[in-house]
Amino acid sequence: MGMGTKLIHPGNEVDETTGAVSAPIYQSVIFAQKDLDTVGQWEYTRSGNPTRATLEETVAILEGGKYGFAFASGMAAIMAAFCLFSAGDHILVARDIYGGTFRLVTRLLPRFGFEIELIDTIDLENVRRAIRPETRGLYLETPSNPLLKVTDLRAVTALAHEHDIITIADNTLMTPYLQRPLELGVDAVVHSATKYLSGHSDCLAGVIVTGSQHLASEIRFVQNSIGAVLAPHECWLIMRGIKTLKVRMEQQQNTAGRIAEWLSTRPEIGAVYYPALQNHHGRSLHLSQAGGAGGVLSFRLADEESAHRFIDGLHLPAIGSSLGAVESIVTLPSTMSHGSLTGEMRQTLGISRDLVRLSIGLEDFDDLRDDLEQALNGI
Ligand SMILES: *Cc1c(COP(=O)(O)O)cnc(C)c1O
Repeated sequence: MGMGTKLIHPGNEVDETTGAVSAPIYQSVIFAQKDLDTVGQWEYTRSGNPTRATLEETVAILEGGKYGFAFASGMAAIMAAFCLFSAGDHILVARDIYGGTFRLVTRLLPRFGFEIELIDTIDLENVRRAIRPETRGLYLETPSNPLLKVTDLRAVTALAHEHDIITIADNTLMTPYLQRPLELGVDAVVHSATKYLSGHSDCLAGVIVTGSQHLASEIRFVQNSIGAVLAPHECWLIMRGIKTLKVRMEQQQNTAGRIAEWLSTRPEIGAVYYPALQNHHGRSLHLSQAGGAGGVLSFRLADEESAHRFIDGLHLPAIGSSLGAVESIVTLPSTMSHGSLTGEMRQTLGISRDLVRLSIGLEDFDDLRDDLEQALNGI
């Protein structure tokens, strides 16, 4: 079955009791027992809720896993994934990661005794050199945000598994429509469902999917213990978003590719980062592990002031820290999405103040291009 069909017919799309084709929202915290000794399938919504279970099953099916878990935000899901580890564990983390994840692993997790090492995962040899006997985890994001650097998921996970290292990948930018890391060897996938899965900038959510029963029972324990679960109504919003993921992603990707090509021809632009461009370092690798380049690109202007003038001169894209929505969103990563990185790390990664990230929405290509053009002319 193709992904377009699967998004609409994951197998659980019709409610068994009523025939509803849109999952019922079970806005209830407790599910009454028949009597004191008979505990039903559902008890208390933090431990399990039928609406959440439908979403969790859907994302598990789409990612090619068996077990899904829905959280109140992407960061809540990422924190829960890191709870697979314990104090003293050495955990390798790709240094090209979302700014909020950077904050979590560098400033919060060390308080609990996690030994985090940030590494460049683009080079397999770097990963090999960083592995120690006490290494338990490897956290990845590909293509990375905001520079779209590509990590070889098959090679890196094969190496990790030789050392019994659990691999986790953030698949927010690609979504299961374009990339399914579990099929490439990754143990657990995390998402900010706030982005493409929701697609409408109206719901904060996160998910974890795994095919491993062992990891699933750990994550279930963590989810119930911490309690950062996704509320029933938000679960429904994410399921509603998922139904149109194919058409949104295809359209946004198509426009993103054309915008990336067009920006490459402009004299004001220093470099364009988009995995489908011929000159992108990881193009063939990326296209060997994903079905397309997605809807996010970034590019450099001459300097900080030009980037500011350009962003302020745009009319269509919203200025904001998010991505993956129906409206285009423009970000200055150095102060917005990646403002929580140290200045030194931003410099190492190339997230300088002339770098602009653009998440392409559903506006017409001609209108977006005209808007970009007038903003460039206004610099
Ligand atoms: C937004 C984002 C997150 C964090 O998700 P929230 O839903 O905002 O908590 C994590 N990873 C990536 C790649 C993101 O873009």
